[in-house]
Amino acid sequence: MNDRPTKDCERCGRVITWRKKWERNWDAVRFCSDRCRRHRPGPADLQLEAAILGLLARRPRGGTICPSEAARAVGGVAWRDLMEPARSAARRLVAAGKAVITQQGRVVDPSAARGPIRVRSA
Ligand SMILES: [Zn+2]
Repeated sequence: MNDRPTKDCERCGRVITWRKKWERNWDAVRFCSDRCRRHRPGPADLQLEAAILGLLARRPRGGTICPSEAARAVGGVAWRDLMEPARSAARRLVAAGKAVITQQGRVVDPSAARGPIRVRSA
């Protein structure tokens, strides 16, 4: 099981694990699901990544932020609509090696994390 190749979804940052149906086109697989394929990262998603990195840069070393802070920075009064996109942006930053996601102070697997998360520089 664990020797199957993996990659990170370009939309949501969750881990994609190799499946038999992809044996001919694994290199071309970029998204974990049809939903992610239809909602490719757009300008707001890139803004959320930049907002997370910007917020982290202003924190003391080792400081954390909540994804909602990035959602508020980008979305203004409509920030709630950006909560899941902000979590996805955080997962993409983890996949890029730029951040880690924590819960109760411990680094967690972004694909498996449920409930409130914090983001810290990698
Ligand atoms: Zn995905």
